Amino acid sequence: MPILGIETSCDETGLAVVERGRVLAERLASQADLHSLFGGVVPELASREHQRIIAPLFGALLNDAGLSVRDLNGVAVARGPGLMGSLLVGIGFAKGLCCATGLSLVGVNHLHAHLLAADMEQRIEWPALGLLVSGGHTHLYRMRSPTSFDLIGRTLDDAAGEAFDKAAKICNLPYPGGSHVDALSRGHAPDPKLFPRPYTDNDNLDFSFSGLKTAFGQLVAKRPHLRLARLALDDRDIGARLPGDVREELGMVLASLSLAVAETLTIKTARALDTFSDAKCLVLAGGVAANTMLRENMAALAASRGLALVAPSPRLCTDNAAMIGYAGEIFLASGLRHDLSLDAVPRGRIVPEDWVGGNCPA
Ligand code: ATP
Ligand code: FE
Ligand code: MG
Repeated sequence: MPILGIETSCDETGLAVVERGRVLAERLASQADLHSLFGGVVPELASREHQRIIAPLFGALLNDAGLSVRDLNGVAVARGPGLMGSLLVGIGFAKGLCCATGLSLVGVNHLHAHLLAADMEQRIEWPALGLLVSGGHTHLYRMRSPTSFDLIGRTLDDAAGEAFDKAAKICNLPYPGGSHVDALSRGHAPDPKLFPRPYTDNDNLDFSFSGLKTAFGQLVAKRPHLRLARLALDDRDIGARLPGDVREELGMVLASLSLAVAETLTIKTARALDTFSDAKCLVLAGGVAANTMLRENMAALAASRGLALVAPSPRLCTDNAAMIGYAGEIFLASGLRHDLSLDAVPRGRIVPEDWVGGNCPA
């Protein structure tokens, strides 16, 4: 029976109907153009935009799926981490729906959903080792089972996605910059000596990316022509409009940054595989998992250990409601659900005691 997934943790209003891992319908309304005007997400504008759009979007979703509310079997909603005001819009909508219809409600950890997303396309073998790289997090997990993950490493400061977004901002590329950095890097040979592999000279599984932003800023200060004039917000093919020599140099510098991020993540992930050698596959998830160079590096690492790399297609890497619906489907099938007192958890781990009928899976 179909499950409704709701994602409003940040700046995308996502709704999807998922059944046995298959997406029956999906609607995603991005606010990127709105926040692009400010160079980052403005929390109050984000929640107001979710609030404006969520009910009409739900009507359109049911129409796409050819379903009515009575055909649904449960409602899964992202409960955190994320922006408090944004999360509350999705949770409020989910509760109203469950209250009116009696459908089961399940709150989903957004990060947990990112890590399970690839299982919709390619089977995760358990236990797995998972690297979640997104706009707000860089986390290594030992994934014991679909409902039980242990956090084994994390960033001490910036997330990998932030390193890309901040570097892009220094060059005046549109927000969020990660996909632009990736596109402009493609086909350019990186200089492996241009940037450090930060916080790798130790024996732990944590990360620190804030120094990369500083190193990138210092390099661009010496090459001011790489600070582009502000580009049109909706420009999807920036490279084609740059003079050839600037495109070449910017491509090399951004490829070098991408390599530094990819290799740093790979060094720590290799270390985690040494420590947790029972892992049967390597899972890569989150928006930065769409990055070309990171995927290549992780594929090589997995192959060197005789493991499969399980990474979602780019559409499922960034925020979406299908992953929330799928995680919800797994939780509900395991007997895990919430009552109508479900609360948002904008930061940190989900409190275990509030699950009805089982232990906390995240
Ligand atoms: P979190 O999941 O930690 O709460 P988030 O939901 O904002 O944060 P995601 O939507 O998972 O993060 O990912 C967005 C991030 O992914 C942004 O930092 C964006 O720049 C980055 N990103 C997207 N595509 C690419 C790419 N091809 N290369 C590098 N980074 C990318
Ligand atoms: Fe996310
Ligand atoms: Mg996002």
